[in-house]
Amino acid sequence: MKKLIPIFLILLTLTLCACSSTTYSEGFYAMNTYMSVTVNCPESKKVVKDAKNTIMDLDKTLSAFNKNSDIYKLNKNRSADISVETADLLKDAVNYNKLTNGAFNPALLQVTKLWGFPDNKYRIPSEKEINEALKTAVPDKIEINGYKVSLNQEGEEVDLGGIAKGYASQKLTDNFKNMGVESALINLGGNVQTIGTKEDGNPWLVAIKHPEPGKQYLGQLKVKDLAVVSSGAYERNFRKNGKTYGHIINPETGYPAESGLLSTTVIYKDAVFADAMSTALYVMGEKDALKFWADSKKNFDIILYNNKGELLVSEGIAENFTADIKYKVVKKSDYE
Ligand code: AMP
Ligand code: MG
Repeated sequence: MKKLIPIFLILLTLTLCACSSTTYSEGFYAMNTYMSVTVNCPESKKVVKDAKNTIMDLDKTLSAFNKNSDIYKLNKNRSADISVETADLLKDAVNYNKLTNGAFNPALLQVTKLWGFPDNKYRIPSEKEINEALKTAVPDKIEINGYKVSLNQEGEEVDLGGIAKGYASQKLTDNFKNMGVESALINLGGNVQTIGTKEDGNPWLVAIKHPEPGKQYLGQLKVKDLAVVSSGAYERNFRKNGKTYGHIINPETGYPAESGLLSTTVIYKDAVFADAMSTALYVMGEKDALKFWADSKKNFDIILYNNKGELLVSEGIAENFTADIKYKVVKKSDYE
């Protein structure tokens, strides 16, 4: 019996160690934006450090400007063997181009370069330059066979900037779930992903940034196990001659999208889809975005804010949303 007591104590201590959660949070800069990862679990510090490394690695492979990246190699050589992971994401991006009727376009790099977005050397290009660059943005001409990818349109250059952060947060989410992490918050510069609930069992509270200067939030959303992804020119833009030019391009015109929407948020279980759609809805504008949402087979939610100061919140998340400003709850049946 005496021998059994120390064994029992050791087992009890081990069990307590395995169960006691600690919260660890770290902020860092990657993918051109400030990010933070918060995890509640035993060994949270190690989990967050590993997550940071995963993002740094993804940044290296997915960036169009890192000379060792898959995307840089592909754009430079026109045809390349790249990692299956990057090729699969590119395939998703091409599918989202079809799904959104062209609003999401992962082949606009020649256009965004003209406007100086990648290197912050902003300028207003000529109509002729824009039309030439637009001719290269043909996602249908991207051929993907496993890890072998060819850009068959002359001058075409791909850019996964509209989807990479969503992919990164989805990858962390999958990793966390495989590790048994039950409570985490990933914020990759406006791409928020929640895993489970806060440590106290309450849902995570995600604030939606106000797109107008000097204003803080459009509202707050209570969520668990969902991605909340926002897009808008407020994230990156430049001003010239009293006009603001944003980083999201309308693939039809080659100009920064001016659809009347100032902020689009997509709430969905899959962060890759949410990221692609928030960019696409911003390009589409309110009328087409609402129709697209209402017709979609996927059950995602949206928050739209337009240049008339109107805030629209979809019915699926309305009861978890609070705001100081007035908002309208939109129903799918009104737009189908
Ligand atoms: P996001 O912040 O997810 O809305 O993505 C914006 C980024 O996606 C830009 O900085 C560009 O790298 C890229 N991009 C710009 N316009 C588009 C578009 N119409 N479709 C897909 N990606 C785009
Ligand atoms: Mg996006």
